[in-house]
Amino acid sequence: MFFDCHTHTVNSDGKNTVWDMCNSAVNKGISGITITDHATINFYKDHDTFNRIKQSIADTIEAKENFRGKLKVLKGIELGEYTYAPKKADEVLSLGCFDAVLCSVHLVPKAGWSLAYNRIDFSDPSISDSDINEYIKLYFDLLSETVDCFDFDILAHIQCPARYITGKFCRKTNVMLFEEKIGEILEKIIKRNIALEINTARLCSDFGNINFQTEEILKLYKLLGGKMITLGSDAHIESSVACNFSEASALIKKCGFNSLYYFENRQPREILM
Ligand SMILES: [Zn+2]
Ligand SMILES: [Zn+2]
Repeated sequence: MFFDCHTHTVNSDGKNTVWDMCNSAVNKGISGITITDHATINFYKDHDTFNRIKQSIADTIEAKENFRGKLKVLKGIELGEYTYAPKKADEVLSLGCFDAVLCSVHLVPKAGWSLAYNRIDFSDPSISDSDINEYIKLYFDLLSETVDCFDFDILAHIQCPARYITGKFCRKTNVMLFEEKIGEILEKIIKRNIALEINTARLCSDFGNINFQTEEILKLYKLLGGKMITLGSDAHIESSVACNFSEASALIKKCGFNSLYYFENRQPREILM
């Protein structure tokens, strides 16, 4: 049975309600879902982040009751851009009561890049291949710094810029050029009992290949002694709940793992595959 540990709703930038996402999870036959709306620290005031996360928690608590016996529904948060304003991030985290806290980086405000990577047009020919590599390097540096800053349970989408640079704009990337930095980040999370998320959004290419060096990252994680993996669809729409989970679990097994995890009350729970 699968557990989707990373989903979004109308309480952040998702298209559907908590109820819709849970209903979709039931229809897809998975055993549980964690609602992890974005705490957008860089847009803290504009997005009314604090109140929207409060609403996300309230809606999730209601769904938890309504889906009891059919689906396990858990409360989470995707804390992005912690380093942008740590005090604000701590304020929203102080709401407590999360089952799972995800850490992510979407914005690398360095070397003239001012937009989040999902808003950058990487097809622009004035962005060279070496600019792209430099951008990915800056991303991993910031991710490594962010990991040190706060207490969380799951490292979300470790190689996410590739989802846009390659997945959306078809520019070549090889995140394993930064294997050393990725290894450093993985070692840190392993030491702190933080799980590695395999983010399944755009995981498979049209030709059935696994994208974004996910296999290489999993092999490195295994080599370094990593054990805890979560699956996250990063669904922003109900139809994407648990997308590519079969492909992801086949890959994870192939890399030598035989269980997956989710977090409840901020404690890891193992599910055998
Ligand atoms: Zn994210
Ligand atoms: Zn997300």
